[in-house]
Amino acid sequence: MTATTFDIINPATEEFLETVELASLAETDTLIARAAAAFETWRKVSPSDRALLLRRFAAAVDADLENLAQLEVRNAGHTIGNARWEAGNARDVINYYSAAPERHFGRQIPVAGGLDVTFHEPLGVVGVIVPWNFPMPIAAWGFAPALAAGNTVVLKPAEITPLTAIRLGELAREAGLPDGVLTIIPGKGSVVGERFVTHPAVRKVVFTGSTQVGKQIMAGCAEQVKRVTLELGGKSANIVFADADLQAAAAAAPGGAFDNAGQDCCARSRILVEKSAYDSFLELLEPAVRAVKVGDPTDESTVMGPLISARQRETVAGFVPSGAPIAFQGEVPEGPGFWFPPTVLAPDSFDDRAVREEIFGPVVVVVPFNDEADAVRIANDTEYGLSGSIWTQDIGRALRVARGVDAGNLSVNSHSSVRYSTPFGGFKQSGLGRELGPDALDSFSEVKNVFIAH
Ligand code: NAP
Ligand code: MG
Repeated sequence: MTATTFDIINPATEEFLETVELASLAETDTLIARAAAAFETWRKVSPSDRALLLRRFAAAVDADLENLAQLEVRNAGHTIGNARWEAGNARDVINYYSAAPERHFGRQIPVAGGLDVTFHEPLGVVGVIVPWNFPMPIAAWGFAPALAAGNTVVLKPAEITPLTAIRLGELAREAGLPDGVLTIIPGKGSVVGERFVTHPAVRKVVFTGSTQVGKQIMAGCAEQVKRVTLELGGKSANIVFADADLQAAAAAAPGGAFDNAGQDCCARSRILVEKSAYDSFLELLEPAVRAVKVGDPTDESTVMGPLISARQRETVAGFVPSGAPIAFQGEVPEGPGFWFPPTVLAPDSFDDRAVREEIFGPVVVVVPFNDEADAVRIANDTEYGLSGSIWTQDIGRALRVARGVDAGNLSVNSHSSVRYSTPFGGFKQSGLGRELGPDALDSFSEVKNVFIAH
């Protein structure tokens, strides 16, 4: 017997927030059928009207921005600064793709004996499965381009962080999106998420989460040759060369590793430092890590909040057993809340679990390297390939290393990786396909070729 409700806990206070109803299999089927029926009308809405409705949806998100941000602070423990950025990102992504319906061009291809044209046809119902780490942005990266391309969407938020997704669904309806076009279905991964994979009316699954579940989803989708996009884990390298502005690199490193308490698939959780600069870099890094203010996420000056759950804290703590090679560590508040201090490890061996596995918490390892080739070799010595950073003042080296690292999103002298106007996704076991950017609609449509004889 599966539970039909879930009690949401504020991770910063451990206080009960509210009870959310979880959809059963039968309810999920009913909602998927409604989305399939809505597809028949949504696909026929004119491009300009679809664009207009998406712009209204973005405006509704904008008007509700503070409320959405505060909801995320309570549900996920995100700092208020981050949560405002996340709600703004959802708005911007919807706005960006509101321009797409009128610009989703096909081609006219020269052929003998007639006219040949291509069309981008929507797929049907798209199922979006969202994790708990960035509930609003990751939801919007899936539903906005899917809707723009003429699909309808069923979206399952993570069981523990459904509140902002539910609110986004309400805002879509208030903005005038027809019933069944964007349906939020709170529920369990094993019930609602799996049904997206097995239900024949769901023509594509967009999944963000663990590599382990991503593999199951991909295998399940193979059964129906169902389209799938996967955004999975990471173990990204922050490569610091001796010629870099070490002060700037050290000041930025905590942000690259500890933003969202390290619960970020793009976290630069391995800092690789050129041997000749290793000691001076660590000297500069220590005060930067100690300056990360951990605490009440509603306080505007807080830099890092709690972890999402007691379970996640236990998982993270497992990477820092007693006797772990701690170089230095920050502080956390006393009392309730799922706190874990910003932690820098300096392990002797590449076989240390903390060097190889995704931690998804505020724990970073620092590893020395000999030269450029060694840096690229270590950066690529992982099954993952999501993002990474390169700190150097040598532009030639920056480009060589950026081309050499097997990852989808690299930044030079910064840690930025996700912009809605540029493609995002992973190499190797970090994922399959790309989200965001100018080409996202291609992942939510099929190309149809039509030949018309003269
Ligand atoms: P997860 O199990 O992969 O969950 C991600 C989403 O998939 C959730 O909505 C989840 O639903 C759903 N799900 C779970 N099992 C499913 C199934 N069999 N079929 C369909 N959907 C399913 O991730 P997690 O357990 O929350 O976190 C575990 C670890 O994954 C983390 O510690 C971290 O290492 C990694 N992770 C990575 C990312 C990322 O952005 N790449 C995000 C989150 C977590 P429920 O809410 O019901 O579980
Ligand atoms: Mg799980």
